[in-house]
Amino acid sequence: MIGALLGMGEMSSVKRASYSVGIDKALCKGCLICVYVCNKRGSNVLKESGEMTALGGSLPAVEGGCIGCRWCERLCPDFAINVEEGAEC
Ligand code: SF4
Ligand code: SF4
Repeated sequence: MIGALLGMGEMSSVKRASYSVGIDKALCKGCLICVYVCNKRGSNVLKESGEMTALGGSLPAVEGGCIGCRWCERLCPDFAINVEEGAEC
């Protein structure tokens, strides 16, 4: 309404997809390649959790803000990561 009074065009909004990152604890050996690549790209979604894997490595923890680049999923040597596009927000 205000926009119309001021002669502005219609406002448009951009929806961004959200992503969920799943780590299969049974497959993950804890090499932290995924944490390295995620942080190297500046996303900082994956961190060391402090929890050990069955093979004595360090299990990654997932925080919010994944941009869906899927580098972690591609580079995990054990196919332990699954990145899924979730509901748009
Ligand atoms: S790259 Fe794969 S195996 Fe290595 S810590 Fe990440 S999820 Fe685990
Ligand atoms: S998909 Fe990209 S941003 Fe998301 S956790 Fe993996 S490397 Fe990080």
